[in-house]
Amino acid sequence: MNQRRVSKAIKIGKVTVGGGAPIVVQSMTKTDTRDVMSTIAQIKELEDYGCELVRVAVPDTKAARALSAIKMEISIPLIADIHFDYRLALMAISAGVDGLRLNPGNISQPDKVTAIVHAARERNVPIRIGVNAGSLPKRANPKMTTAQQMVAVAMEQIKLLESLNFDLIKVSLKAFDVPTTIEAYRDIAQKMPYPLHIGITEAGPPRSGIIRSVAGISPLLYMGIGDTIRVSLSAHPREEVIAAYEILKSLDLRSHGPILVSCPSCGRAEVDIIELAQAVEEKLMKIDKPLKVAVMGCVVNGPGEAKDADIGIACGKGKAVLFKKGKKIRTIQEKDFLSVLMAEVERF
Ligand code: SF4
Repeated sequence: MNQRRVSKAIKIGKVTVGGGAPIVVQSMTKTDTRDVMSTIAQIKELEDYGCELVRVAVPDTKAARALSAIKMEISIPLIADIHFDYRLALMAISAGVDGLRLNPGNISQPDKVTAIVHAARERNVPIRIGVNAGSLPKRANPKMTTAQQMVAVAMEQIKLLESLNFDLIKVSLKAFDVPTTIEAYRDIAQKMPYPLHIGITEAGPPRSGIIRSVAGISPLLYMGIGDTIRVSLSAHPREEVIAAYEILKSLDLRSHGPILVSCPSCGRAEVDIIELAQAVEEKLMKIDKPLKVAVMGCVVNGPGEAKDADIGIACGKGKAVLFKKGKKIRTIQEKDFLSVLMAEVERF
């Protein structure tokens, strides 16, 4: 794993992004922001899953007016996602949001950007320059590759913000195409000092979307690029948060709740290991201890993996051996696999 790129630290509310801080997990609500109660409820659920920054869409003035009520009821920093109308950004700043996301593809007139930057500077509100391959401004040079165009648009916007004496900047360059995304981030990471929000946009429903996101986000993180991540899925946003932590845990970049090791099962298994692993995974979701749990199907790799975990079971016909910190604790009967394993997890 490469050393992490050194980026400038910025504060979004109480959360530090960049400057070597832990990689921040964020998501976006899928409720109608004008429906304050539903939006608050969804954000609180995301908080429970470990979401550290949340973004809400601000499509109109009614949504902008809802922001202060939402902000009052939640514990994590709130970011307003603004497109097209710069006045909504001004309203969001007045409402007390902790950050803004602007798309240079649809708010590009310098006077409007200037008005937003002045208001953001007064209240120390960072701005994410969120370039999206699907909404590049018309002025982007079509002779360049998409990745080059994305970088050029972001750099132009960065220069505009810097010329206004503003440096509370975060940048994202998202595309659906994974190689384009990686190329764009690698390029801009060397050109400017600001923290990077990384992700694959419109990645799809969970099955394909998580794989596409992992394919794009993991190589960047491995290269040391990325200060905050969002996994964009056509699913409830809790799935985005769960997937983001799984990526970070897989790369040893964050610890967050348990890690589950389970074998894929095969013709040697004499218990339904797939059903058992899924039931254990479901129960582990509600546990926030950072421990490693193993559920293994037979004696081939079972005892080794189970011993290596904090708590593990290696199953045989109708029974399993329970391991704790590498030591055999007892034999358990098949009907008790789940309950005994989870009791040990609770006790650990
Ligand atoms: Fe098959 Fe045993 Fe390996 Fe599981 S641990 S995949 S049951 S050989």
